[in-house]
Amino acid sequence: MALERRVNPHILNLEAYQPGKPIEEVERELGISCSVKLASNENPLGPSPKAVAALREAGDQISRYPDGASYELREQLAQCLGVGQEQLVFGCGADELLELLAKTFLSPGDEVVLPWPSFAMYPIVVKGMGATPVPVPLSADMAHDLPAMARAIGERTKLVFLCNPNNPTGTSFGQREFEGFLAELPETAVLAIDEAYVEFVRRSDFPHSIALAKRRPGTIVLRTFSKIYGLAGLRVGYGIADPELASYLERARHPFNVNRLAEVAALAALGDEEHAQRTRDNNAAGIEFLTRELPALGHDVWPSDANFLLVRTGADYYEKLLRKGVIVRPLRGFGLPEHIRVSIGTPEENERLIKALQQIVEEGS
Ligand SMILES: *Cc1c(COP(=O)(O)O)cnc(C)c1O
Repeated sequence: MALERRVNPHILNLEAYQPGKPIEEVERELGISCSVKLASNENPLGPSPKAVAALREAGDQISRYPDGASYELREQLAQCLGVGQEQLVFGCGADELLELLAKTFLSPGDEVVLPWPSFAMYPIVVKGMGATPVPVPLSADMAHDLPAMARAIGERTKLVFLCNPNNPTGTSFGQREFEGFLAELPETAVLAIDEAYVEFVRRSDFPHSIALAKRRPGTIVLRTFSKIYGLAGLRVGYGIADPELASYLERARHPFNVNRLAEVAALAALGDEEHAQRTRDNNAAGIEFLTRELPALGHDVWPSDANFLLVRTGADYYEKLLRKGVIVRPLRGFGLPEHIRVSIGTPEENERLIKALQQIVEEGS
């Protein structure tokens, strides 16, 4: 019997997540060098030097299993966030927490309300359990349409994803809008608020999601060490939940889902506020620069509270920029063929992007 016929239908019908291309692959394919990658919202300043030093030191202990409870990291993070240690769950990236939520709560027939366009992993983890994503289109200004999301919640809704700030648009919502949404949210829906970019947020009325996770049973806030902390390659993220929800995810996870080096580096990165601040400063300056230069070249940009910008360039700019050695994220797959997502780089990388766009205009290519 064909193997295909024995695969779970909901897995057979999945399309694999398309990550940003690694620099090495692009350079090999195009026969170019010195390209810049502004495609995966990584930290352009690299990892915290303190994390790298801690990693070096921990190298000769990798024959030992990690601490399955991530005790030191848990203790430190709980203190930093002002939450109980029993509220924290760690994962192999925030991605794993999305998967654990799906595994813990979803069965075929269940519905999950999510914003769209948003993080591409949400529908993947939902469909992976045979459940049904209910995507709610963003508003005209590319932000969450929270009233429409509230209306989309029905009896079958087990889980709701919010992404604040939203990837790939960079837009965010504030406390007042959030409270309006919560007033409509039934108790029965588990609420997952993905805050992968929270450390970059500049608006002062950003929602107090952690306070909500303490107060509302069935609430989890997701965060990651991949973005501002610069540890994307090590894979560590975490959730802040009410203790009961945290305890179910603890049951569902693998015992050593966060590796030893990731635990060590995350702990060191957490203690390097100077690196985080430099990253924030670089990001704010980059957003300001690109928000000035891109419209001057005729490209619309949207306000961003994250470390990337949504840009309307016109069609085929992903390929055009690739030929100039600038890797960005195409958004065709979201039904946005004229838009790209650009991660904020170093000042030099941001200038490379602008120069490449200028050349494209000059060459009429
Ligand atoms: C990057 C990202 C994540 C995943 O981060 P990892 O910790 O690297 O798995 C989750 N959600 C959003 C919105 C992201 O952009």
